Amino acid sequence: MKIARVFAHRVELPLHEGSYKWSGGKSVSVFDSTIVGVETDTGTVGYGEVCPLGPFYLPAYAEGVRAGLRELAPHLLGMDPRELSKLNGRMDAALKGHPYVKSGIDMACWDLLGQATGLPVCVLLGGRFGESVRLYRAISQESPQQMAEKVAGYRQQGYTRFQLKVGGDPDVDIERIRAVRGMLDPTDRLVADANTGWTQHEAMRVVRGVRDVDVYIEQPCLSYEECLAVRRHTDHPFILDENIDCLEMLLRGRSDLAMDVVNLKISKLGGLTKTRQVRDLCVSLGIAMTLEDSWGGDITTAAIAHLAHSTPVEYRFTATDFNSYVTVSTAKGAPRRENGFMAASQAPGLGIEPDLAVLGRRVVDVA
Ligand code: MG
Repeated sequence: MKIARVFAHRVELPLHEGSYKWSGGKSVSVFDSTIVGVETDTGTVGYGEVCPLGPFYLPAYAEGVRAGLRELAPHLLGMDPRELSKLNGRMDAALKGHPYVKSGIDMACWDLLGQATGLPVCVLLGGRFGESVRLYRAISQESPQQMAEKVAGYRQQGYTRFQLKVGGDPDVDIERIRAVRGMLDPTDRLVADANTGWTQHEAMRVVRGVRDVDVYIEQPCLSYEECLAVRRHTDHPFILDENIDCLEMLLRGRSDLAMDVVNLKISKLGGLTKTRQVRDLCVSLGIAMTLEDSWGGDITTAAIAHLAHSTPVEYRFTATDFNSYVTVSTAKGAPRRENGFMAASQAPGLGIEPDLAVLGRRVVDVA
């Protein structure tokens, strides 16, 4: 089996809530997603998806995915898509860095491996743990009252895990955390994700201001060193996200005991192959994980479901069903949230069938 063609579609994904806002006044109203197809000489096609959280979150942007695919694809023609380590080696040799560009190709090749073997990707990634995957809901940054109302609404839909977008004015953030925690059950879990938005002294004030509150603190500051300083001054469970962008940073964080949980995003790490490597190491080291991506629709959500479902339950902190945030469906067969949980498909590969009418014309086509 050989890669005969690499192509991509650009899809706009508007949001049910209209916009998504987080630290530093950043917001997105329509996501720009790239659906990547890898076609083989036998005619089978695997699909992946890359959707940055705007151009100002991680070092990634939507047009960069397409430009990178045009650069990378000629180096992959003729390769066996089932040989994922070889494929990733070739991608790293042909293009330095740019993990998010490689993520969609890697995801599509896992889809092909699954189709070729007749197995769901979660089985290939290690096995299906538990019946389903518990989801969290990210709560866009609004006033404390508005955020509490949103949480109440999503709780009605079955969610029991919530991630508040903070990283704004520290005094308002303290109010946001208190307003939401006050209306949750003791067994519900609450994360305050500052997305690098606080300076170190602001983060210190917030963790003191919510000292008596049951809340996890996620990525308070921009640099690893600032986060580590905050971590060493608080007993709140601590999550690192933006700083954990490669295996080396995970090992450094582990060595410093800098976090209790890490947030693994598939495109931040460069695809399912590299995320699996980090995930498996986290399991061996006893570090729990949020398993997700930066954003996406049905195909990203399917990939997250397979990654999360193949992670032992005790290390699976939460995962994300991005396809329930956006108004456009791009594929059949993607997981659908039920009462705050989702499950990976039992079908071979990612278990999705793209809706070609929604995807439109190809914006990248290399054969
Ligand atoms: Mg985060």
